[in-house]
Amino acid sequence: MADILSLKESVVIYLDRSGGLQKLAGDCRLLHDSQQTAAVYRFRVLVNPSDLIEVDPGLGDYVLHDPLRATVLFQSVCFLAIKTLSLTEKIHTASQVNVSLTFTHLPPFPEYTLDLRSFHRVFGPMTPVSMEGAVIAMTRVTKYTQGARFLCTDDDCPGSTGFHHIRVHAPGATESATVRNDFSCMICSSQLKEDVKFRVLGDKQLVELIHVKALDVLRGHQQSSFRYQSVTLFLRDELCHSMTIGRLYRVVGIPSLVYQWPSITWSVEANSVQPWELQRKTAHIHTVID
Ligand SMILES: [Zn+2]
Repeated sequence: MADILSLKESVVIYLDRSGGLQKLAGDCRLLHDSQQTAAVYRFRVLVNPSDLIEVDPGLGDYVLHDPLRATVLFQSVCFLAIKTLSLTEKIHTASQVNVSLTFTHLPPFPEYTLDLRSFHRVFGPMTPVSMEGAVIAMTRVTKYTQGARFLCTDDDCPGSTGFHHIRVHAPGATESATVRNDFSCMICSSQLKEDVKFRVLGDKQLVELIHVKALDVLRGHQQSSFRYQSVTLFLRDELCHSMTIGRLYRVVGIPSLVYQWPSITWSVEANSVQPWELQRKTAHIHTVID
């Protein structure tokens, strides 16, 4: 694996070329203008795999095969940029920088495509996949915890002030992974207590996506015993309200296993959503023959 330092250098080059650094500076200016102080600040970084591979194939590979670890890489580079360019005074530690990588698209290869008709399986690290389907159900928008600040209960410990213990939502994680009352201090192992006024809430919506052929069964066109299984998508923040029941979409998402004892469920954390149209290839061929 390429060494971390050279990958970070490539992230800097990519952010500079893609306008990401400029966007970061703009986002920080907006923070400066607002009165609000929070535990974490969310920054969206657009990731174009083709541009990334052009800058550094190693970095492209890293982002496509281990997006969660790649997020940490972007987080540390963004924090460094914020500090060296003095972009905002509100951020004290790297853990306050909540980077969300948004894929513009994925390479058109089978390993990045999920056919909703196939049996869904998840192995190893979570990699982004592209899928197409119809929305058959959705929930209303509710809140989830984007990030929270915890303080050490021992007043003499340096962890009792500042931003040493920040927890941020990770794709596929449940609410209890971010906020719980049994975390302990990394410095002295005392119990941690959440500083509730710093909690950052985001929007969340659950959507059921199914292969478009399943609609033929509903219309009575198909009489086979083939059974379609829908997949649950988690839409968060700006992606909420981006889908409508009955419409078709192409979604880039990161599959994840959610452990909620006693069961494990399989779901997809949506990364980007685009309206999609079914290509009527057969109809086109008919007109050509005629
Ligand atoms: Zn402590």
